[in-house]
Amino acid sequence: MFRLHCNKCYHLRSQEPTLALNLTRCHHIICANCLERSSLEDPKKCPLCSQPLQTIPIDRNMPSGMAQYFEDPTRFLKLYQKISKFQGDQRTSDNVGFWQQMERQRDLELQLQGYNKIEMQLNQQIEREKKRIEEMRKYIEYYEKAAPSGSSSSHRGRRGSRSSQERGSRPHTPSVTTTTTDTSMEKENNFFMDTTADDFGPKKRRNDKNFHI
Ligand SMILES: [Zn+2]
Ligand SMILES: [Zn+2]
Repeated sequence: MFRLHCNKCYHLRSQEPTLALNLTRCHHIICANCLERSSLEDPKKCPLCSQPLQTIPIDRNMPSGMAQYFEDPTRFLKLYQKISKFQGDQRTSDNVGFWQQMERQRDLELQLQGYNKIEMQLNQQIEREKKRIEEMRKYIEYYEKAAPSGSSSSHRGRRGSRSSQERGSRPHTPSVTTTTTDTSMEKENNFFMDTTADDFGPKKRRNDKNFHI
């Protein structure tokens, strides 16, 4: 803290505590005596810098904005450090949040890729099943035609047996199982039961072995 004194006559407040001091808008300190003297010459100008004069008494009733000029500046330095740290922490938190959202988005993209692969596999399986059903239908149709007259309730059977030329070439025996094996179906079923959405993320790659790609 500096020594409080009149900037015009250099009287120290400590030497004369009763002497009233004033702070000007131009940041000069003038004692009551000097202010009175200067008002006789030019009451509208600061006796030190001649700027338009506006004063307030230096006392406990000063507005806080002005009173701060008489406080220890290190107090403001500490306050500045606290404010700076607080705002720095807020920026760090904001960055962490941003990166977490980015990571989450990457995980969701991987998850979506996983679902797309499953959809592709299921569509392929549907196609294989359709082919198998078609084969089965041809097979049944062939043997229905080949069945002896009267033995079948089918109206086609009553027309009498046909020659092998009429029946066409015998279709090959369709497979009973699907093109994918039963065990792989089982695995796929387990996959749906055991797998949660999060398992597609990069942290749980172990579950990838359940994909049949
Ligand atoms: Zn003075
Ligand atoms: Zn001044």
